[in-house]
Amino acid sequence: ATVCTPSLIQSTCAYCGVGCGVDINVTDNKAVSLIGTADHPANNGKLCVKGSNLLNTIDLTGRLLSPEIAGQQVSWDDATDHVAQKFNDIIKLHGPDSVAFYVSGQLLTEDYYIANKLMKGYIGSGNIDTNSRLCMSSAVTAYKRAFGEDVVPCTYQDLEQTDLLVLTGSNAAWTHPVLYQRIERAKKINPAMKIVVIDPRETATCEIADNFIQLKPGTDAAFFNGLLNYLSENDGLDTHYIAEFTEGFELALAEAAQWSVTKVAAFCEVSEQTLISVYQLYCSSKKAITFYSMGINQSSSGVDKCQSIINCHLASGKIGKAGSGPFSITGQPNAMGGREVGGLANQLAAHMDIDNPQHQDKVQRFWQSPTMATKAGEKAIDMFDKIASGDIKAVWIMATNPMVSLPNREKISEALSKCELVVVSDCVDSNDTLAFADVKLPATPWLEKNGTVTNSERRISRQRNAVTPAGEAKHDWQIIQEVAKKMGFSGFEFDDVSDVFKEHAQLTQFENDGERLLDLSGLTQLTAKEYNDLTPIQWPVNARHPDGCARVYADGKFNTTSGKAQLIAITPQLPVQRTSTEFPFLLNSGRLRDQWHTMTRTGKTSKLSAHTDKPYLYLHPTDAANLAVENDDMLSITASTGAAIAHVKVDDKQRPGECFMPIHWNKSFASHGNVSALYQSIVDPLSGQAESKHGAVALSKK
Ligand code: SF4
Repeated sequence: ATVCTPSLIQSTCAYCGVGCGVDINVTDNKAVSLIGTADHPANNGKLCVKGSNLLNTIDLTGRLLSPEIAGQQVSWDDATDHVAQKFNDIIKLHGPDSVAFYVSGQLLTEDYYIANKLMKGYIGSGNIDTNSRLCMSSAVTAYKRAFGEDVVPCTYQDLEQTDLLVLTGSNAAWTHPVLYQRIERAKKINPAMKIVVIDPRETATCEIADNFIQLKPGTDAAFFNGLLNYLSENDGLDTHYIAEFTEGFELALAEAAQWSVTKVAAFCEVSEQTLISVYQLYCSSKKAITFYSMGINQSSSGVDKCQSIINCHLASGKIGKAGSGPFSITGQPNAMGGREVGGLANQLAAHMDIDNPQHQDKVQRFWQSPTMATKAGEKAIDMFDKIASGDIKAVWIMATNPMVSLPNREKISEALSKCELVVVSDCVDSNDTLAFADVKLPATPWLEKNGTVTNSERRISRQRNAVTPAGEAKHDWQIIQEVAKKMGFSGFEFDDVSDVFKEHAQLTQFENDGERLLDLSGLTQLTAKEYNDLTPIQWPVNARHPDGCARVYADGKFNTTSGKAQLIAITPQLPVQRTSTEFPFLLNSGRLRDQWHTMTRTGKTSKLSAHTDKPYLYLHPTDAANLAVENDDMLSITASTGAAIAHVKVDDKQRPGECFMPIHWNKSFASHGNVSALYQSIVDPLSGQAESKHGAVALSKK
């Protein structure tokens, strides 16, 4: 008789940056059921529909289970030999900047750490960037400019302790559902708490709003400049905080002073009365949180938008205390962990600066590595431009599907077709990007992976392996380490994932001296068992905060040279992609409630597909009438960069002339509804984040 050996494994959900804990029941190497972890601080037992369906999205159908070269199954030895040899050959002939890694917020922190170490410290190039560039790099740049370090100052409990919650550029009800549920509960308990939603579309999140501002797309910075001006004119400034803890206020206000309520109302196309009521709320509330996401970040001026939000918090002293702060919420499960270990091309590990010679030296001495990147590498969009131009000749893509997610699909396709070597590590055996792979490397997915992730409130949680890897799949950090060794590098002798984590923690401590808040010195000596048992904890974790730290900057000390937070003068810019006679409709994009990214996993179950079963373009009734289309009719959508096909969903939630398409569908689902094909690769000049909310398209009935 079979002997069943049930066990309970605690892990973290893989489907968004809320980072909910999950309890997985495992019997004989099979996950049989899952519930939310009752005492995980991010979710207190709650899960959204994606999290509840995690086990329905992980099966062996379509799994990549063996390494392949040119479509032929090979041994791991042959595959890693081939990748190492080809990378070495190309580097020898063309230098370190001729190769690149394009990685993902799906990777665990330990995977990210090893990839970054290999590229920046051993190959000697900055050319490692991540799909998180598309998600929150504008928020990163703004935090860094304001606080001197990329630090999210808030904690989820602040959402429950605030007087006023401003959600802007976020459809949290669909994209961060468990946080939205927390907000709903907080409002129920404290009906005096006010909620404002600012969005060009009336999304599901508006159901909870006391005030909804349906502003003209792309005009957010004007709204917040107007708020700063209003605070100044209506006794809403914290003059003590400004004087003691900030710099740059006068210049920021000089710009903002040009934005009277009347001017903002005209620019954002909202009524003056609505504006005044929201500005007044902010002014009179002792505590306020601004909760923002991709609607702010995915813009050609995303950094400025984030900065205009931060300016208002600094000027009113609404930061560093319970229920207050500018709170960027990340999309991916481990975008934050990637930020901590240098997953962005313009960062070193442990929040050190890639263009700072002292930091370069520090990291190189810590790693004892043969070389060190001395300048920023190519950010995602530029990386693929360099692949197209032939400057980058080999790319290793890990756990991401850029053919679907990067703007201007035609250009990405051209780049990958031309590239001398395309290596793809993934858990699935086919998708739009794998079609270009010379080498496919089978990586473990969630449930088999083992390591840590950091959620949107700086909380490090374990993502534990509940079952053994299927087929020949290996963990990403192991695959990268194998290739590094075969390239001839020492420094990649990790036996256990806990050793990788410890080295990362040690680097955060190395000659830190309070220079950076990212300090995990309290976690540098974990045994493998302690690492395995690690309970969720918010960094910094050090002598001052041995149990972690929920909220930072309570003391008003920032990590800038002067120790003061920086307000930055913002001149609001309109989006670069504009409508025209040829392309008269403005195209917005975003997530659906029940799908994740390019659907390679969530597309597997009818339980999730039932919510929205095909790609729709959401169109205002007036536009539908003008185009003589009805619900479910097929539409041809054309842009200067490409074309797509979608079904019509007539919907008055957006303004006339504006339409919305979900980001998920692609060729792998026999669909031509790929929205990224319709966007030009326009980026924010400071962050490199793409303008993925504001395209221009023509529509016609098909
Ligand atoms: Fe998973 Fe995010 Fe849903 Fe939580 S809110 S269960 S992390 S998808």
